[in-house]
Order: sequence, then structure tokens, then C-alpha cells
Amino acid sequence: MKQKTIAVIGLGRFGMIIAKMLAAMNHEVLGVDINPDIVQKISPYLTHAIVADTTDEEAIKALALSQFDMVIVAIGGNIQANLMTSMLLKEMHISKVVAKAENSLQGKMLQKIGVDQAIYPEYDMALRLVQSLTRDHVMDYLQLSKNISLIEISMPSFLVGTCLKDSKLREQYNLNAVGVRRSTGLDVPPDPTAILSEEDKLLVIGNNSDLDELTK
Ligand code: ADP
Repeated sequence: MKQKTIAVIGLGRFGMIIAKMLAAMNHEVLGVDINPDIVQKISPYLTHAIVADTTDEEAIKALALSQFDMVIVAIGGNIQANLMTSMLLKEMHISKVVAKAENSLQGKMLQKIGVDQAIYPEYDMALRLVQSLTRDHVMDYLQLSKNISLIEISMPSFLVGTCLKDSKLREQYNLNAVGVRRSTGLDVPPDPTAILSEEDKLLVIGNNSDLDELTK
């Protein structure tokens, strides 16, 4: 993977994890926070860590962020600081600005400001968790668009002992199997002729209504 230069502004719970993960993947990471204690704590893990109030135009310009591939605004609770920082970054013509939104109204405001991507980590995580906790047999759930999702489910009984080629998953359910998780590892793309067992998990992609049919 090509190494990127990424700045993470706001090193609260979410920003701190994102910054550390990116650094662990060998990207060049600059962490920025208004709180000197937080900056000092994270400094050993990142390429650089700087104390700055990014709502201050002079201070944010001094970070020379225009050379970065991406800037992630992870300021959470202080919505005003999140929006002001995002607006200043867009004015500085940063190539990619990704900003965390607490709710859909903030997400809309971020879009009006022109951020390249508004993210809703708490909402996305909660949705994923609720789906896997409430649906029997669903291990994991990832919403790809309003109507399309990818789910990991325990092997439906009608598939046990057959193979994907003979499964009629596409014809009957309008769904596509994209992987099979076996004790030996994840099979992607899955072998269409391999016999499926009760212990295997199926990764399947499709319309939410079709997925509901399969998992009900
Ligand atoms: P989380 O929910 O991810 O913990 P928080 O809102 O608690 O999010 O944390 C956001 C971080 O953003 C805090 O560490 C805070 O010090 C930092 N922060 C808040 N305002 C600014 C600002 N104007 N400039 C830079 N960092 C800021």
C-alpha cells in the first residue's frame, strides 16, 4: 500500500485511535490537538504531534497542511470547532477533508461547507452492532448504501452439504455470495464447487429486503 501523509485534528477517543492505527500501518501521521497533555501522550506513536487551536486561522495555516494527502477532522463534542476547522481546511484547498459528524444536521452542514466525506462512526458502529445482536445467525453487518448491505451469517441449513454453484442463491434470493469463512480461513472469492459445512460462515451481499428473506 502506498504510504500517505495524513493529519488527524482532534485526538479524543476516536481521533486517537484513528491516528494510532494509521501510524501502525506506516503512514506518515501528524496529530493535532488544542490540549497539550493529549499531544504529549500520543507523540511517541505518531510521526509528529502538534498543539494548535485549529479554529484560529493563523494557527491552522502554520501547520502547512496543503502538502498532505488527507486531513481528518475528528473533533467531536465541540460542533462549532469541528465546522470552523473544516471550513478553514476547505478554504486552504486541502485535497481531501474527511470530517466526523455527530448527527445528520452536522453532516449536512459539513457537506455544505464542501468536505469530501462526512463520517458517522458512532451511528455506523451502533447500526452494525444492533443488526448483529438482533438478527439470529448474523455475525457481522456492513451497510454499503441505503439499500445494499454485506452480511456474514451462519451457513443457512439449505446450503449445508451443497456448493455455491448449485445453491440457486442468485436465482432464488437475488443475492451474491462473496466469501466463505472456514476454520482454515476466509475463502474470497469462494470456490463455487467446494462443499459447504454447518460450521462455515457465508458472506453475502445484496438488497436489504432480499437479505431479510434469507435470514428470517
Ligand atoms: P471523542 O468523542 O472522539 O472523544 P471529543 O470531542 O471528546 O471526541 O474530543 C475531541 C478532541 O478535539 C479533544 O481532544 C479536544 O481537545 C480536541 N479539540 C477540541 N477543539 C479543538 C480545537 N479548536 N483545535 C484542536 N483540537 C480541538
